[in-house]
Amino acid sequence: MQTIGVIGAGQMGAGIAQVSAQAGYRVILSDIGLPQAEKGKAGIAKQLSRLVEKGKIEAKVAEETLDRIEPAADYGSMSAASLVIEAATEREEIKRSIFEQVGKVLAPQAILASNTSSIPITRLAQAAPDPARFAGVHFFNPVPVMGLIELIRGLATADETITAVEKYAQTLGKKVVHANDAPGFIVNRILLPMLNEACFALGENVANVADIDAAVQLGLNHPMGPLTLADFVGLDTCLEICKVLFTTTGDPKYRPAPLLVKYVEAGWYGRKTGRGFYDYSGDTPVPTR
Ligand code: NAD
Repeated sequence: MQTIGVIGAGQMGAGIAQVSAQAGYRVILSDIGLPQAEKGKAGIAKQLSRLVEKGKIEAKVAEETLDRIEPAADYGSMSAASLVIEAATEREEIKRSIFEQVGKVLAPQAILASNTSSIPITRLAQAAPDPARFAGVHFFNPVPVMGLIELIRGLATADETITAVEKYAQTLGKKVVHANDAPGFIVNRILLPMLNEACFALGENVANVADIDAAVQLGLNHPMGPLTLADFVGLDTCLEICKVLFTTTGDPKYRPAPLLVKYVEAGWYGRKTGRGFYDYSGDTPVPTR
């Protein structure tokens, strides 16, 4: 059985660990400490029991899946992994420091990949032990539900690395699209300007939260409105992606909306903190403006 390492046990890392374990891989899951990694595993246990309740998987399968996930206090056990996927907070200095640390224990032929939403893969590869064995593997949220993975090749990424990561992605049952190492890759290059524009519209009092969301959802036939989606992605992550698009291109069309910056400064990150453009403390989300 192949072993996958996942670093960062938040919404994305936990999702990646879950789908990998469901596909039969042994998974080592780490975060800033063991309690955070264990919290990630507890969240996966909840997701799996929901699937059992809905009759989508058997209880025994859920139990075996969970048994394959091993929370880790540090990177030592990552030496057993043939692929290590980093899914930590979207901040370059955090990711670089993770690559430097995990690089010390990585097996000689192992591949290191980042789930970054926007940071250039070629630049991140400089902190990896071997840029030829480094790639971007961009999952979508929620990972168990979304059928796409963007595979991003840095300048130095070897063909064998892309082939190996693509094979892994296919064993998860996901569709793989290939993107070059351009800011935002494919999806976020197109999505983030829309989410950011919704924040500008709200900040400029064009309409309230509920009407902006209803307008886009019904007027453009999107499954959810942009402010709901931004809360779902995490406003901190949205802001970091906007900043990367803005600084790497120098194009003012990507400048972050002041209201988005303000919400992040207030600690209102969306669903994960219980408040963003909606308040999630009750049974149903309530618009905050
Ligand atoms: P999150 O805030 O839910 O989780 C981030 C996790 O990283 C936290 O558990 C945090 O404790 C951990 N972390 C922070 N510093 C760390 C360190 N030094 N070592 C190990 N773990 C550390 O964020 P998320 O939404 O899961 O995003 C994670 C990554 O996935 C980001 O790069 C983000 O851009 C990317 N991503 C997010 C989405 C999305 O919709 N949220 C989609 C695709 C990709």
